[in-house]
Amino acid sequence: MSKLATLLRYLNTPKRYSSRKKIAKIQNKAVMKHIKFVRQNSKFYRDLWQGYTDEDWRDFPIIDKAVMMENLQDLITVDLDIANARDLAERAEKSRDFSSKIGPYTIGFSSGTSGFRGMHIVSESEQAAWAGFMLARGLGSSILGKYRIGLVLRANSNTFESIGSNRIKFQFYDLMKPVDQLHQEILKGDLDILICPPSVLSYFVDIKSELRVKRIISVAEVLEDVDRKKIESHFGLTLNQFYSSTEGEIAATCEHGTLHLNEGLMVIQKEWLDEKKGWYHPIITDFRRKSQPIIRYRLNDILVASKENCPCGDAREVISSIMGRSDDVFHLPKHDGGTELVVPDLIRRAIMQMSDKITDYIAIQKSPNQIEIQIKPDNLEDLSMTGFNDLWQSKNIQPPKLEIKPYTHIPSATKLRRIYRQFN
Ligand SMILES: [Zn+2]
Repeated sequence: MSKLATLLRYLNTPKRYSSRKKIAKIQNKAVMKHIKFVRQNSKFYRDLWQGYTDEDWRDFPIIDKAVMMENLQDLITVDLDIANARDLAERAEKSRDFSSKIGPYTIGFSSGTSGFRGMHIVSESEQAAWAGFMLARGLGSSILGKYRIGLVLRANSNTFESIGSNRIKFQFYDLMKPVDQLHQEILKGDLDILICPPSVLSYFVDIKSELRVKRIISVAEVLEDVDRKKIESHFGLTLNQFYSSTEGEIAATCEHGTLHLNEGLMVIQKEWLDEKKGWYHPIITDFRRKSQPIIRYRLNDILVASKENCPCGDAREVISSIMGRSDDVFHLPKHDGGTELVVPDLIRRAIMQMSDKITDYIAIQKSPNQIEIQIKPDNLEDLSMTGFNDLWQSKNIQPPKLEIKPYTHIPSATKLRRIYRQFN
């Protein structure tokens, strides 16, 4: 059953879409059908959409993670006790035994870094379909080939083994294990494709890994340019990227390395933060996910819309980058008493201007006037503060105190966040 679902999604995931019009048509049809199902099966959404017709779906009230978690029991469309599911997920997380499920459902916690954990319920067929989509976007060639695919993830999902076949084998590597041990296991795995968070890949470069695979896909963390370049040059290949969150598969790279929104799975509306610069929060409506429907759900991430068309000819929208989440934005006092918001990209640029020898960095805003900057290698001399000084000046910001420290992040199950604010 699940193998069939995988194959179907693989075959139904076109490599490219010819026009925006076509995408809109496919999406509207799929959403209308989905809305009917959700209205019937989810008490939460049924109540929320009172007074709206199905045709109004583009204007349904927006929800977010907090609303979803508060109303999870009423929101899901399957017969499942949420309190029970929460216990199970916690136990699985502790024991690293992910074989336990409730009926056909896998229960997972999102590895959120904000301390506010999300929970997600995925059915067997949804997971199998996900694998099919992933193969379509990630394989780069035919499903008929023979592949060994290694997944380095924080939590296994037990269906991967069942999806595997004679030709396609999935091997799971647990991110909770020490990273050197993981590396040894991966080396022995004889993999064709490695799906792995960029901070772990970056560590493999640092230890001069002799790992050779045909394809590497970055997942689970935002891939930053500095990491991408480092990983690509060491492994001698183009790094592919899946940009996903617990809430769904948002974007994936095409063969040109361009990030296209996964508009074949979901509608992505824009809540503009700065339309001129192209910055927005995505409001996602996933028209495939049935167990835990995600409709008009606002993600905290900030995406940057690209005005360029990709040479691959795919009409799906392109994003030039993922800027991070809103708590990645620094809040700094201005000379005139107001507060200026500084997005991670500007901080990143200022750090890169400090020295061209910097290979890794983390910047934490500790308080309104204090920023800690960790850089690798440490003891670099002649650091330039020009980038920061220009930034403060151009934005009329009171220069905060900058503390330069050695880089401390050790790749692990903890997500790497390079730039974030530590206070509210
Ligand atoms: Zn493309």
